[in-house]
Amino acid sequence: MLIFRQLFDPQSSTYTYLLGDRGTGAAVLIDPVFEQVRRDAALIAELGLSLAATLETHVHADHVTGAWLLKRRTGSRIMLSAASGAVGADRYLAQDDVVAFGGRRLLVRASPGHTSSCLTYVLDDRSMAFTGDCLMIRGSGRTDFQQGDAAAMYRSIHEQIFTLPDDCLLYPAHDYRGLTVTSVAEEKRFNPRIGGEIGIGDFTGYMKNLRLAHPKLLDIAVPANLRCGRPENEEDYAGLPADPGWAPLRYSFAGVWEIDPHALEEHAPAVQILDVREPEEFTGPLGHIAGAILIPLGDLAERAGELAKDAAALRKPR
Ligand code: FE
Repeated sequence: MLIFRQLFDPQSSTYTYLLGDRGTGAAVLIDPVFEQVRRDAALIAELGLSLAATLETHVHADHVTGAWLLKRRTGSRIMLSAASGAVGADRYLAQDDVVAFGGRRLLVRASPGHTSSCLTYVLDDRSMAFTGDCLMIRGSGRTDFQQGDAAAMYRSIHEQIFTLPDDCLLYPAHDYRGLTVTSVAEEKRFNPRIGGEIGIGDFTGYMKNLRLAHPKLLDIAVPANLRCGRPENEEDYAGLPADPGWAPLRYSFAGVWEIDPHALEEHAPAVQILDVREPEEFTGPLGHIAGAILIPLGDLAERAGELAKDAAALRKPR
């Protein structure tokens, strides 16, 4: 059985896709975002999966990939197009290559146009395809930088995507209106740029006249993505989301840092333990952790000043 999740990065409106094979636990992530690595790793762990590989649909200009950071955390293999010119990948992909994860496979189709190295990944049963910034929901990726080529995009969409079954679901790398999924039949019929009888001349003319703003992160994102998301100076972790190292903490997909009770007990002198339940619960049969400060949740905003703000203050008897 396939495990499938669509994840979203609100900063760049990027979709990241998790595909996992329930039987073996092997999973891949398509287009992970650097800032979301902690979230993605938490979800993969909670679902009992292990990350075999990260796949890029292309060298992105609007966000830095999480590929390098995920490899560092989980040992996943970095994969992207051989035509990308990127360094640091474990496998370089081209047309008709197959990426296996457990008993499932993704098939690689080259779909240049947005960039010269864009790939579309098609699931083995052709029920889903991940089109990156080639075909988008009622739209398409831009073709005005990064070796963009509107004629190439027209051919990619017609030859590599519209040749998939009509009911094949299409998942793009972005959507700026919150739309999440489309299908081959829908886009063939309703895509205002390329659907219906629109010819290559009309499409290229339309794309030439889009006049979009220069992407804000282009000058940062492209060089970083050509290193598969490895920071320029690996020892310089300034750009990395640092994990708190004072105790064995676990980050959950819910966005909460968790600690095991025994680990908390061990580290009790170094922290303030705040109990936000009601007084009856604090003194009730479940009891409370020794040394915990009781401030019921409803009073917390008002009484936050009672808490020590730094480690030095904690050591002072209060
Ligand atoms: Fe893009």
